[in-house]
Amino acid sequence: MNIALIAHDKKKTDIVNFSIAYTSILKQHNLFATGTTGLKISEATGLDVHRFKSGPLGGDQQIGARIADNEMDIVIFLRDPLTAQPHEPDISALLRLCDVYQIPLATNLGGAEVLIRALEDGYLNWRDIIKDKKQEGNEE
Ligand code: PGA
Repeated sequence: MNIALIAHDKKKTDIVNFSIAYTSILKQHNLFATGTTGLKISEATGLDVHRFKSGPLGGDQQIGARIADNEMDIVIFLRDPLTAQPHEPDISALLRLCDVYQIPLATNLGGAEVLIRALEDGYLNWRDIIKDKKQEGNEE
C-alpha cells in the first residue's frame, strides 16, 4: 500500500513517535511524506520515505495529485487545529480529494492508530481490488 504521512509543525513529534511505534508495519509499505515530515520520520526510524516538497511549498498538492491518480491508499495527516496555516487552501484541497476518492484518512493520532491497525489486519485490502479494476481499463 502507498501511505502518505503529513504532520503540521506542532504535530511533528507525534508523527515521529507514531512512526517509531509502528515501524514494523510501516516498513512493509511504500511511504510518502511532505518534505520536513518525511525527513524527521526517516531520521528517527531509518524508514525509506519518498519526500515531496514541504507542505507550504506545494507538498500537499503533490500528494493530492497522487490521490487523484489513485496512487495513494492511506493518508495520515496530523493537523494542528489550533494554528493558522499559510497553505490552508492546499490542506483543504487534499482533504477534499480524500473524500472524493474515498481514501482512508486520519487527521489525528487516534484515527491514525485505528487506520494502521486496520491496515495490519487486512481491512484495507479493498484498495488493491479498486486499483486492479482501474488498471483493467475502467479508469475515468
Ligand atoms: P512539512 O509540511 O512536512 O514540509 O512540514 C507539512 C505541512 O505543513 O503541510
